[in-house]
Amino acid sequence: MAMAQDAVTIAGATLRLVQGDITDQHVDAIVNAANSTLLGGGGVDGAIHRRGGPAILEECQEIRRTRYPDGLPTGDAVATTAGRLPARRVIHTVGPRWHGGGAGEAELLASAYRSTLARAREEGLRTLAFPSISTGAYGYPIEAAARVALGAVADELRVHAGAFDEVRFVLFSAADLAVYREALRQLS
Ligand code: ADP
Repeated sequence: MAMAQDAVTIAGATLRLVQGDITDQHVDAIVNAANSTLLGGGGVDGAIHRRGGPAILEECQEIRRTRYPDGLPTGDAVATTAGRLPARRVIHTVGPRWHGGGAGEAELLASAYRSTLARAREEGLRTLAFPSISTGAYGYPIEAAARVALGAVADELRVHAGAFDEVRFVLFSAADLAVYREALRQLS
């Protein structure tokens, strides 16, 4: 169970940190740390497609054909079915690869979070679970990424008060949870 320090209330919405597997989350939408191809990958992406089954990939392929023939741009987001996952929808977003911090990474990472929340609002999805976007294969240092992630989500919850019930960050390891906990402490 999450401890009190792992949740804050912002404009009536709960912002919560938990340790776990994103594919286990019973929420309106889980978020995939996808790549531009939308055709699958490792990490969170691999876990979501494995557990969700082929329906997710089929819809991603259709989105590529019809809307994003050159791939989903970094910082953008699209929603699909969640297949066999317990969540209702998957929102796929593309975080930036880390190139040292001078290539607009922070703004692109914040954009990935904002775009995801925009897709959720369009569909009336009120409970969301995010992974730590870009901090795996894409190499974004997690301390910096946690500040950007929590800052961007907190801003959106304030600007769109009433749109969400809960936004949860699902951290895979205890070490990652500890980093996000410190960033949340600094935020509040
Ligand atoms: P990116 O390519 O955006 O860096 P990754 O999927 O490689 O995305 O990693 C993002 C973060 O998600 C990493 O911290 C990784 O440990 C974590 N992660 C991997 N699998 C899962 C999962 N099933 N649930 C939650 N987090 C996960």
